[in-house]
Amino acid sequence: MKQIMGKGVVDGVCLASVMTLSEDIEGVLDRYAVSTIEDEKSAYQQASQAAVGQIEELIKNATDQTQADVLNAHLLMITDVMLTDSIEAKISGGLSAPRAVMDAANEMAAMLGAIEDEYLKERSKDVIDIGKRMVRIMLGISAPDIAVGYHVLCGDDIEPSMVANMTSEHVGAIILGQGSTTSHAVIIAKTKGIPTVVGLGNHIDAIENGETVYVDGETGEIIISPDETVKVRYQERVAAIKAMAKQYDAIVDQPSVLKDGMHLPLAINVGNPTDIDSMKANGAEGVGLYRTEFVFMGKAKAPDEDEQFEAYRYVVERAKPHLCVIRTLDIGGDKPADYLEIGEEANPFLGWRAIRICLDKPELFKTQIRAILRASHYGKAAIMLPMIISESEVLDSKALIDEAKAELRTAGMPFDEAIEVGIMIETPAAVMQAERLAKVVDFFSVGTNDLTQYTLAVDRGNPKISDRYDYFHPSVLYAINMVAAAAHANGIWIGMCGEMAGDPLALPVLLAMGFDELSMSAPSVLKVKYLMKSLKVDSVLLDDVLASRSAVDTRARLTHYLEKIKLKEEIHEKDY
Ligand code: PEP
Ligand code: MG
Repeated sequence: MKQIMGKGVVDGVCLASVMTLSEDIEGVLDRYAVSTIEDEKSAYQQASQAAVGQIEELIKNATDQTQADVLNAHLLMITDVMLTDSIEAKISGGLSAPRAVMDAANEMAAMLGAIEDEYLKERSKDVIDIGKRMVRIMLGISAPDIAVGYHVLCGDDIEPSMVANMTSEHVGAIILGQGSTTSHAVIIAKTKGIPTVVGLGNHIDAIENGETVYVDGETGEIIISPDETVKVRYQERVAAIKAMAKQYDAIVDQPSVLKDGMHLPLAINVGNPTDIDSMKANGAEGVGLYRTEFVFMGKAKAPDEDEQFEAYRYVVERAKPHLCVIRTLDIGGDKPADYLEIGEEANPFLGWRAIRICLDKPELFKTQIRAILRASHYGKAAIMLPMIISESEVLDSKALIDEAKAELRTAGMPFDEAIEVGIMIETPAAVMQAERLAKVVDFFSVGTNDLTQYTLAVDRGNPKISDRYDYFHPSVLYAINMVAAAAHANGIWIGMCGEMAGDPLALPVLLAMGFDELSMSAPSVLKVKYLMKSLKVDSVLLDDVLASRSAVDTRARLTHYLEKIKLKEEIHEKDY
């Protein structure tokens, strides 16, 4: 029995045998005999067409939008001129077709991987994925069949197309050597609720195919060849998770209220329009953040007004009667779009992104605003501006919103005249000017993902410094508290849509700061709603937490607080 620790990224436990994902493609490649250049080129062309056919078939069977998006990106990549030219040149230079494909894919992946951009780094895995697909076709090797039996998938990384196809019926857990929490594999595993642990490094090599492992996706604990005591622990954890799920089910349709009955709306964050389908099932009230950049990404050109309108209306209609906060384009940084020609930047997170692009390209911005305004007629929508650093950006944006409104009036198109306009608070600049900004907008929403990275000067996607990235750092807490006070002093509401909003440990302090809404990924809603029932607004706690000296200290104070509450609840239950 051996215990190793990784980073738990999707909750849940599993006890099953391992299916390792490594395969000896290189070995087979070395034994492959090269034919004539013409024959090799034709073998490549046939493999490319067959791969397109396989991917199209997978798209047809995709069960959600995220899977389809990954596979559509593969379709675009397989015909990418840079890749096809490189393969053809290598074959002309005397390489076999499969060797040329694998070398070209590896080179392109290395190039993408070297770019300081999380999104592009992830795309490098997609290139390897399609390269391997073509090579397997040429060599007659079949990919590991994950649709039989019940396994824990184990590898350094996992090909996105493989994750897109898997079901929790056959895949009990995923354990990976790589550490990215924003990889396609992790995003899809989250939507499918498959327990996942990442960041195991080369511990992965010590795990043999067929070995039994215990995986805890919450704590990141992996036990190889567990003994009977672990098996008992597993049963207990399964029972506890089931019991908790029952408790959560019971509150799905209940309002999100504190112990004293005070109502605090919990909303969800939406990326793909179809994410809205999880709002009701998770007992949420509305959308606090609709990340519209997903409507713009992976396309050859910007979507037109009608295409955007359909995507926004879909979500607004389904969020009804609740509010749907639609964030204007937040492209750039880790979310590129070729057609915007952002170009290479030394510091993409400090570069030409979000509202900066929109104000420099007013037609792009107004097209989106018109689409949002038109969607507002079908429910209750609000406009939210990202990455604001100054009052003038808000005023310029509002002037463009007014122009878009006037254009729709002239065209006789209905929209909500009273639509609210708010901003994300995700830069220290916006925090410092919160008083002034609060006077020109209808609401604030705190984006802790960026606010943490900009306040602490810690890149949110760099695994080397991820232990320094923590929204419980006193400076981040101070910033958030200042903003909440400024919002209320000026009579506007304040929400939070960064990851912190869905963290139960943060809940008591966010309540004490007076947040009016919290927006989070759908699977977090019931956890937060459940905890809310035991809490009240507690200003003494706020003073205590603001006195903390470090993120570790804050976490300790909040953990202690929640433990005390839990204890009180248990005593209270016994009394009855
Ligand atoms: C944030 O920065 O907290 C946020 C919600 O926006 P995103 O994660 O899309 O940058
Ligand atoms: Mg952000």
